[in-house]
Amino acid sequence: METKSNWEKFRLACGRFGKKTGDAVSIQKMKLDISDIQEKCEKDYAALGKLCYEKLKAAEDLTEQEATLMDAIEEKLKKISDLRVEIATVQNKRYCPQCNTLLDAESNFCSHCGMDMNPACPEVQQAKQEAQEELEAFRNDGAAEEPAEENEPAQPVENAETTEEEEC
Ligand SMILES: [Zn+2]
Repeated sequence: METKSNWEKFRLACGRFGKKTGDAVSIQKMKLDISDIQEKCEKDYAALGKLCYEKLKAAEDLTEQEATLMDAIEEKLKKISDLRVEIATVQNKRYCPQCNTLLDAESNFCSHCGMDMNPACPEVQQAKQEAQEELEAFRNDGAAEEPAEENEPAQPVENAETTEEEEC
């Protein structure tokens, strides 16, 4: 009996001897309560972390630790995004790059935001815009200048443009 812990001595002193089973149950319950609270606390940490992440994305003076964690998160988000795209591709679907709506692969425009789903590379887009402006100028002026329309393969300039588009 010399090996009694202080706690047991304390319990004896308090006249709680014999309530061991009840104590064990209440201790077990309190331990579960701690786990439960810890879990909720982790969720709050995660939510706070997300808020900080959004703030830190715009920040310039990150500490090394912050930068490392930011990179780790971005890498994982990229992997998730890649996997989603892979799943969508297998299902013959794709995501709108603007609003992230899942669309049929054949869709020409996003059904949610109207985004052009077949955008050309910037150079071709610019060429198309210039051609469109030229065409409008021609229509407005009524001048004899040749309009640079897209669907006239007879023009060498148009051929060059088409080739450029295929490269993208
Ligand atoms: Zn969209």
